[in-house]
Amino acid sequence: MLNARIKQLRSAIAQDALQAILITHLPNIRYLCGFTGSSGAFLITEDRSRLFTDGRYRTQARAEVQGARVVIGKKAPALQAAEWLAAHKRGRIAVGMEGEHVTVATQAAIRRELPARVRIKPVSSIVERQRIVKDITELARIRRAVQLGSGLFQHLLRAIRPGASELEVAAEIEYQARRAGAEGMSFETIIASGRRSALPHGRASAAKIGNGFVVCDFGVILAGYCSDMSRTVHVGQPSLTARIFYQAVLEAQQAALDSVRAGISTGEVDAAARKPLKKRGLEKFFTHSTGHGVGLEIHEAPRVAAGQNEILAPGMVITIEPGAYVSGKWGVRIEDMVAVTDRGCEVLTPTSKELVTI
Ligand code: ZN
Ligand code: ZN
Repeated sequence: MLNARIKQLRSAIAQDALQAILITHLPNIRYLCGFTGSSGAFLITEDRSRLFTDGRYRTQARAEVQGARVVIGKKAPALQAAEWLAAHKRGRIAVGMEGEHVTVATQAAIRRELPARVRIKPVSSIVERQRIVKDITELARIRRAVQLGSGLFQHLLRAIRPGASELEVAAEIEYQARRAGAEGMSFETIIASGRRSALPHGRASAAKIGNGFVVCDFGVILAGYCSDMSRTVHVGQPSLTARIFYQAVLEAQQAALDSVRAGISTGEVDAAARKPLKKRGLEKFFTHSTGHGVGLEIHEAPRVAAGQNEILAPGMVITIEPGAYVSGKWGVRIEDMVAVTDRGCEVLTPTSKELVTI
């Protein structure tokens, strides 16, 4: 599987007229060779691949890395890679570097290691483009992460009660996530209650939960892959207006789900989510994009947003998460993860979206 990924990248770099590429973004390194350490550089040439790391990862790298030889050195891994390239590749060559991930300082240090005959060429999202469509192994891992993540919802319902703080609720599901085998949370848990539910990114705070909506957005990491889901529950009996508001977001979410299939653009999915809200005059309260890709990183390509013309393809995994937020009053967000198929999509998140009253 990993060899196939390296092979695909090799043909991409050949198309860019590169003789080598230096990968430094850790999720990309993990994707290509399996290494999960926090210090590494992965160099791929037309016929060889090397993972450079330091002594702390000697045992781990040998156990994890597939399809590449491991080189342990004392210098920063990217500089080891540059040194190796200078010593092993002759003539005038061009090496690609990840434009989005290499700092100006690192690039300057790499430049100093390389002779003038080696040209550095920034490339954009070359591995990210490849990661956008998930292979079978990845889909299986994502499914497991989503299962574990959605299993936390029952704990969440037990932890949410009037008087409990948002942090207590977050602590409870994070504890349960670890117990269930999660490597960690895929982002800082959002528990936003009462007026704070109007903050689209209301990280759990010391605020005590009272009557009203509670937006819960959380995810776990399992075998490297992230899950991401949001559910909004209501503490106390919701008013009719609150029910209608919730229903509008639910309709928006369903409309977006119904629109997902291979061949349409992510911009069209975003537009589908906005339509039901527009009908009720609530469009202005939907202040963020409809979704994003998920995989080894919590936010990855494609963006599901207005005006995006990325075309969906089978195997892409995205979130569908419209919300509506009335500042100072309340907010609702509902989020599922879906896998794009030929005919539509498979909703991966199994949790019910009926409004739960606590
Ligand atoms: Zn989320
Ligand atoms: Zn999300």
